[in-house]
Amino acid sequence: METPSQCSRCLYDTSHPLGLEINEKGICSGCLIHEEKDYLDWDQRWNELLDLVNDYKCKQKVKYDCIVPVSGANDSYFILHIVKNKLNLNPLVVTYNKYFNTPIGIKNLANLRMKFDVDVLIQNINPTIVKKITKTTLFELGSMYWPCIAGQTVFPVQTSIRYNIPLIIWGAHQGLEQVGMFSHLHNVEMTRRYRKDHDLMGMEADDMLNTFNTLSEEDMCQYRYPSDSDLRKAGTRGIYLGNYIRWDPKVQHEEMIKLYGYESASFNRTFETYDHIDCYNYLNIHDHLKYLKTGFSKVTDHASREIRHGRLTKPQAKSLVSYYEKRNIQNQNLFYDWLGVDENSFNFILRKIAEENNKNSINIENSHRKKNKSVSNNLMKLNYKINSSINRDKKTQYITIGKGYP
Ligand SMILES: [Zn+2]
Repeated sequence: METPSQCSRCLYDTSHPLGLEINEKGICSGCLIHEEKDYLDWDQRWNELLDLVNDYKCKQKVKYDCIVPVSGANDSYFILHIVKNKLNLNPLVVTYNKYFNTPIGIKNLANLRMKFDVDVLIQNINPTIVKKITKTTLFELGSMYWPCIAGQTVFPVQTSIRYNIPLIIWGAHQGLEQVGMFSHLHNVEMTRRYRKDHDLMGMEADDMLNTFNTLSEEDMCQYRYPSDSDLRKAGTRGIYLGNYIRWDPKVQHEEMIKLYGYESASFNRTFETYDHIDCYNYLNIHDHLKYLKTGFSKVTDHASREIRHGRLTKPQAKSLVSYYEKRNIQNQNLFYDWLGVDENSFNFILRKIAEENNKNSINIENSHRKKNKSVSNNLMKLNYKINSSINRDKKTQYITIGKGYP
């Protein structure tokens, strides 16, 4: 196997799972595309967006202009802030229930509904089916998150067809933001192909059905992407705000804290306190699996992002990554109980994944690390806000159906 070449600017190398190129100056495609953020004419980009959405504005008050997929974290507030208060659109907000919800995520979602005064459609798929699929994807593909990603990316598309609302508005495009797969100027839109190849590891619902005999037609039907002819008939298209607005999640979340009371919390395995706080697993067991499969964990994504935005130097970013990337995973027992597996069988899967990815040298046991001075200084410099906690003083348990807060 070829040794991966490293980017001289950020912390990524050519083994990045989304694919990444390094130019003759040693700079990766992700860093190069990021430079566009500093020279594109964002006023002009915004006007293009205004023109685009203008065609979708409904004259009757009762009808929705667009669909906005949200969760209790991940840029949801910012996307709605733009859609509702800057573009003056009337959105139908949709959310797929992944069942690993934290109290803070439920609070953020309830607060979002009230602050933005919107209708929210929530999809709760039969948990027995979700567990069955999760077991299959975990054991066969080493992914505990396939149903979450499949659900989050298909429910808005199905809703577009069911409710006859053609326009879906997403936040930033992962492939553009992380590895510079496209330029902002390509105005890239949502495709079935990208979802299959990159979000779902090459496995759509029907591929799962044909590959694993543990799953039935009935199990997979809620995860099935609509047919091309249905999409054409409805005129469904999904656009990304990141192509039209200079995307900076840290600054955006901080604005949302001030404007709407977005709540943030700290996690054990990254310094970032805004993304993924609605899920008990994403920055814990899921992150550990990511580390075993790819050799880097979510904190590397966060640190690379901070380098590109000029808020960390590479040595500072490296010191944060080496402190966080192997720290303890937390709340894994909640997942074992929910799925009905014991710790031993889960560890067996971890060892299998480590072996398959030649990561035998990685210790899968939890590690305890102490913050050193440079880590503390770098954290102080970044100044990520923490105004709440994951559990909000409630019991540590999944809120499988969120009742919201008065
Ligand atoms: Zn780079």
